[in-house]
Amino acid sequence: MAGTIIAANWKMNKTTGEAVEFDRGLRNALLKRQVTAAIVIAPPFTSIGALAAEFKDSKVFLAAQNMHQAAAGAFTGEISGAMILDAGCRYCIIGHSERRRLFGEDNTLINAKITAALNYGLMPIFCIGETLAEREAGITLIVLTKQLKEGLNKVPVDDIKKIEIAYEPVWAIGTGLTATPGQVQEVHLFIRNLLSEMYGEKEAAGISIIYGGSVTAANIDSLLAKQEINGVLVGSASLDLASFLAIVNYG
Ligand code: PEP
Repeated sequence: MAGTIIAANWKMNKTTGEAVEFDRGLRNALLKRQVTAAIVIAPPFTSIGALAAEFKDSKVFLAAQNMHQAAAGAFTGEISGAMILDAGCRYCIIGHSERRRLFGEDNTLINAKITAALNYGLMPIFCIGETLAEREAGITLIVLTKQLKEGLNKVPVDDIKKIEIAYEPVWAIGTGLTATPGQVQEVHLFIRNLLSEMYGEKEAAGISIIYGGSVTAANIDSLLAKQEINGVLVGSASLDLASFLAIVNYG
């Protein structure tokens, strides 16, 4: 496992000027305090190039929030894995619940995107998670199993450790409702066991499983105290520098 990951998903927020201002503040703060976690920022596509120049030689990595599965072609409005790699990204978020819900992405499409990302040498941050209705119906683990198995269909064992799994219960995203550290630990353990069945115990032990859903400075310590929570994916609380720094300076 690569160590703790703290990833920021800015979604459709920040102009390039705002992104650069945030990142200068972040880099200044990181110069003053040693941070052990790997920090990943997923800005909108339009800011990736500018931030890649800012973060050159730093320990902050960039992610795209989405990519198209094809290499190139007549796909107006889309961006390929090769393009985001070339722009300076090391990671790509794939299968975020907003992409599933608002843009109709299903497990088959998500699998094609994961496969394409891996082919380009990008590291997918593969999001899975149940809705509130699914949790209340008691089918959380069935839903997660399907998302995981179909999303990772034909992903070879050699590639699995390049993938970060982000468990993001849909009911906790942007709602202020956080899954309790105990609930997250239980689900992460389930995911790890499933990965172990699919890829073997040794490989599964090396995969980072991170949590996302209303993470803030108030709950980061209790979440990261759990052995199976290898990092976090932060939406709302990553938009403001002070609140993101309070998360980065956890512990
Ligand atoms: C997200 O959208 O990935 C997310 C975790 O958002 P929030 O932190 O706002 O719940």
